[in-house]
Amino acid sequence: MTRIITLFCIFIAQIGFSQSAESYLEKIRNNEALLTAFFQQMPKGGDLHHHFSGSIYAEPLLERAIAEDFYLNLETMAVSKTKPEKGKWKKFSSIIEEEKLNPEKPENEKLDYYKQQIMQTWSIKDYNGAVPSDDQFFDSFMKFEPTIAGHFGEGMLELKKRAIAENVLYIETQLSTIPCDMNVSDLTDFNSKLRQTAVQKDEKAAFKLLDELYKSLQQKDAKKYALDFNNNFIAKLHKDLKMDDENFTMRYQNFVLRFMSPVDLFKNLTIAFISANDSKLVAGVNIVSPEHGENSMKDYWLHMVMFKYCHSKFPEVKYTLHAGELTLGLVQPEELTWHINDAIHVAGANRIGHGVDIAYEANSYDLLKYMSKNNIPIEINLASNEFILKVKENRHPFTLYKEFNVPIVISTDDAGILRSSMTEQYVLLAKRYPDVNYETIKKYVYNSINYSFIQDASVKKQLLKDLDTRFKVFEAKFSKN
Ligand SMILES: [Zn+2]
Repeated sequence: MTRIITLFCIFIAQIGFSQSAESYLEKIRNNEALLTAFFQQMPKGGDLHHHFSGSIYAEPLLERAIAEDFYLNLETMAVSKTKPEKGKWKKFSSIIEEEKLNPEKPENEKLDYYKQQIMQTWSIKDYNGAVPSDDQFFDSFMKFEPTIAGHFGEGMLELKKRAIAENVLYIETQLSTIPCDMNVSDLTDFNSKLRQTAVQKDEKAAFKLLDELYKSLQQKDAKKYALDFNNNFIAKLHKDLKMDDENFTMRYQNFVLRFMSPVDLFKNLTIAFISANDSKLVAGVNIVSPEHGENSMKDYWLHMVMFKYCHSKFPEVKYTLHAGELTLGLVQPEELTWHINDAIHVAGANRIGHGVDIAYEANSYDLLKYMSKNNIPIEINLASNEFILKVKENRHPFTLYKEFNVPIVISTDDAGILRSSMTEQYVLLAKRYPDVNYETIKKYVYNSINYSFIQDASVKKQLLKDLDTRFKVFEAKFSKN
């Protein structure tokens, strides 16, 4: 009898307290700490919009700059391995030595002071609005970049460790531009010729010029640079560091820089496509640096045509484009109407990064319908958009994409500089958009694998299987009592 009563009590207890991850999420919807604990443990699939150098936290970079005794620019907080000609530079060892000899030195000449300044310049730590947020963000890269050169491995391991700790099983990182010392000085005439075609938006004429350029680049052995990068950098690092294991998978995107002149950019883009076409580890190609920069704006259409051209040569290579990382006030209003449109309709992007200006785009409903129908996902970066563009909550077009059933993936962009995490993106999502229920969030997580550029079908299948298992483990936490 006692046993029957006990069993009955257990049964009642389970009914009384049992809940699902779904109902628990609704209960904690407005509490950030509870949401953080929930999403920290929830499997989050992949991070598809991820800049390698912007994802490393400033602490290890600063530590390395001091350990390797870099020069510090005392005004800008940039570092350099060798002493640049211009500016006020001092070695870290000198700063430390001088402080030892004269402990009474003013506080703002001591190492601790510089360390604090560096943290606030290389990341958004304690950001106080003294400089515009977009400048603060984009300028930081060049300042810490010298500490990353030659140390990619350390960064990759740091990112892997962090991903595993927050239940992320895949990263598709924008690792590096492909080093290339090819001399193209004989081709510089093409810069003005290409820009002329852009004035008329004459795609046919641009293609003709790109054809000529492409041939010249082949003659200058573009392939050599791509294969050298694939074999001696990517494949080597990936293998030596054992990046892929049962807990984690990493793939890479090549990228080009928007601010470069058309010929230089096309040279790099051609090599990036050759590289992605040749290697299964290089999952795709991207275009980066501020979209509202002078050259970026001037050459935007041209860049889209270049992607279209490279696609015609390498139809298997996938590419995601930062497009519409713009908002009212940042550029003239008419510039908000066409970047996502052209990234899709001219360049033929497989995914769109940010897409913040969608509400301003010409025929935005048609564009959204097209994205939905053709399965072109949007990479949503909530923390990044909030800091750089000041776009958040219902000013952010997240709901617009959702309304039109555009596939959504949630990503970090630059978790290091932004001092954020994948968990925080989901916390922001759940808190700001209460209509997004658990099942939908789960769908976004699966999207991050389904819409990844992983080329090997068996790798993708395995990751989806891992995700199933991880969700089972996670959801079991809520059904036990
Ligand atoms: Zn980005």
